[in-house]
Amino acid sequence: NVRVRFAPSPTGPLHIGGVRTALFNYLFAKKNNGTFVLRIEDTDQTRYVANAEKYIIDALEWCGIPFEEGPGKNEKFGPYRQSERKDIYKKYADALVASKQAYYAFDTAEELDALRTKAEAEKTVFVYNNVSRETLNNSINLSEEEVTAKLAAGEKYVIRFKTPKDQKLILDDMIRGEITIDTNTLDDKILFKSDGMPTYHLANIVDDHLMQISHVIRGEEWLPSLPLHSLLYEAFGWIAPKFAHLPLILKPVGKGKLSKRDGDKLGFPVFPLNYTNEETGEISRGYREDGYFNDAFINMLSLLGWNPGTEQEIFSLEELANIFSIERVSKSGAKFSPEKTNWFNQQYMQQKSNEEIADLFIKLNQEKVKDFSKEYITKVIEQVKERAVFTKDLWDLSDYYFTNPTSYDEKASKKQWKPDTKDIMLEVKEIIKNIEDFKSIEIENKVKAYLTEKELGFGKVMPPLRLCIVGEMKGPHLFDIIEMISKENTLQRIENAIE
Ligand code: GLU
Repeated sequence: NVRVRFAPSPTGPLHIGGVRTALFNYLFAKKNNGTFVLRIEDTDQTRYVANAEKYIIDALEWCGIPFEEGPGKNEKFGPYRQSERKDIYKKYADALVASKQAYYAFDTAEELDALRTKAEAEKTVFVYNNVSRETLNNSINLSEEEVTAKLAAGEKYVIRFKTPKDQKLILDDMIRGEITIDTNTLDDKILFKSDGMPTYHLANIVDDHLMQISHVIRGEEWLPSLPLHSLLYEAFGWIAPKFAHLPLILKPVGKGKLSKRDGDKLGFPVFPLNYTNEETGEISRGYREDGYFNDAFINMLSLLGWNPGTEQEIFSLEELANIFSIERVSKSGAKFSPEKTNWFNQQYMQQKSNEEIADLFIKLNQEKVKDFSKEYITKVIEQVKERAVFTKDLWDLSDYYFTNPTSYDEKASKKQWKPDTKDIMLEVKEIIKNIEDFKSIEIENKVKAYLTEKELGFGKVMPPLRLCIVGEMKGPHLFDIIEMISKENTLQRIENAIE
C-alpha cells in the first residue's frame, strides 16, 4: 500500500523545488494507486509564517495536484499539523532515553558556545558526538540521582540521540543506490528541544511511521539526514520507509542551487501563487500572476530531474501519472531554464482552444474589446496566437484588429512609402471597394491581378498596404486581416493613411 507525503514547513511561499517535490510525490502515488498526504511541519516556531499553510494548499490546488489526506481532509491519521501533535512526540523521545539510545543533555548554550570558540582557536570544530559526549554535562556521565534532581529542579535540557559508535551503515536510496556511512562521522543530533518541541528529525520519523508512509520522496538537501533517520527507525524497532532523494534544481547559468533571489533576478519568481505576508504585507508575484498556465508549469517541472526515456516533452498530468517512475529520476542536478519554461507556455498556448484563450484575452482587455463579439475575438486569436507566449502578449499582437492605427512606424514608412505609393494605394482602394465576396482569398486574387496588370512588383504594394492597415510591419497574412476588419474599415484605414 503506497503512501507518500509532502511535508513542507510553512515558512513562506513554496520554492520551485518544493513544488517539484510535491509533484513527484503526487505522480508516484497516482502511478501506484497510492495516497498523497500533506503534512505541515511547523515545529520550528521561530520560523512560523502566517498564511503560509493556506498558500501551500492553494498552490497545490492551482497546480492541479491536490492532496488526498491532510489538514481538513480525510483526517484518518490526523492531526496533520505537527504543532497539534506536540504531545505525541515526547513519549517517543522518552522511550529512547529509557532504552539508553538517547540521553538528556544539560549543557547550556553558553557552555556550548565556549567549546565552539575554544575549538575555533585551536583550528578545529566542536562537535557533540560519540567522543565529546563522554565528558559533557549529560545523563551519560551523571548518576541517575543527579539526573532526577536536575529534572526535578526544572533545569533546562535537550534530548540527544546517542549515535552508535564504530558502525558501518549501509543505506539504500531508490535514486542513488547504496550509500555507506561510518557512524563515527555523525554528531548526536537533538531530538527534543528545551522549548518542549521535537526537532524536525524526531517529529518527521515518528509521523512517517504513525502515518504509515511507505516511500519518502524529498529533496537532496535531506540526504545528509538519512543516516540519522535510518538509525532512528532502527532504534524504535520500526521498519523504515523507502527513500528517494530528488536531485537539486540548479540555476540556469553556472553552478549551484537555485535561490529565490536568482529566480527573481531573472524575472522569474519561483512561487506559483500570489502570496501575501500578513505581517509585512509583502506580496510575492508568482507564475500564476505572470501568466503561466498551470499545466504548462507542471509539465516543465516534471522534466526537472525526471525524463521519460523518449524525445517527448509535452505531457498531460494524466500521462505523467501513467508513465512516471522513480527509476528515471536522475542523480545529477537538474538545470532550470526560464527560456524553456516560456517555451512550454507557448506550446500550451497553441494546444489550447482558441475559445479558451479568447476568454482569457477578454478578461484581460475587457474595456478595449467590449464592442466585439466573442466569435470575432476567437478568430483574431486563431490568427495571432502562434507568436504569443502569454495571454498578455496577445494585445500587442492583435491591437489593429480592434483599433485603427493612429501612427505609422517611422522607419518602415521611410523605407516603404515612395512618391508613387499614394496613387497606388488609391487604386488598390478602388479595387477593394469593388469586391463583392469579401473573403481573404478573393481579395488576394483581385489585388494580385491588379499587380500583374500594372506590372507592379510585390514590394510596391504589399508593404505600404500593410502599413495602412496595421501601422507597422507586423501581423499575419495581410488579406486575412483585411477580411476580418471588414471592407468599410479597410477603406477607411487606407484613406487615413494617405492623407
Ligand atoms: N519539513 C521538511 C521540509 O521542509 C520535510 C523534509 C522531508 O520531506 O523529510 O522540506
